[in-house]
Amino acid sequence: MSQRLAVPQFASGTVKKVYCDMDGVLADLAGYARNNWGVEIRFDVPGCISKKEFWKLVWEDYAVGKPTFRKVGKTPWAKQVWNHVLLWDPDPVLLSVGAKGELQDVVAKNKFDWVRENLGDFPLVLVDSYKHKADYAGSGVLLVDDNATTCALFEKAGGMTWKIG
Ligand SMILES: [Mg+2]
Repeated sequence: MSQRLAVPQFASGTVKKVYCDMDGVLADLAGYARNNWGVEIRFDVPGCISKKEFWKLVWEDYAVGKPTFRKVGKTPWAKQVWNHVLLWDPDPVLLSVGAKGELQDVVAKNKFDWVRENLGDFPLVLVDSYKHKADYAGSGVLLVDDNATTCALFEKAGGMTWKIG
């Protein structure tokens, strides 16, 4: 992906609220996976590890005290994306999918810490599934996300999207 992204243009006042995804948009989880585990985590691409294998690696990190989701770096395009988000909405909300089961609480804490350490005092909403991001859609609501399916569901529910990548 190019490090300079095409930014969608919206008529002045069109965007009333912005929800912004973390992994793949602001947080470089793929880079973490590549550098720490030597794997690609694009689950839709043949030859990459499965989601089940991904969560096994996360488990192994946590088992040795490595807080994976707190330790991921920023994407090369995070600054550009976040600057635009703040122009549209000075009080944006981070919208991410949380972990399930025993890792749920620790991953949630690590994601909140990531937001505070990398962006500042912004709210974060964790949903159980990418499908539930569409629950936040509505007129004048923009979702910034790197997942095409999530973006399609959000638009179907009446929201606008900026698909990254
Ligand atoms: Mg994402």
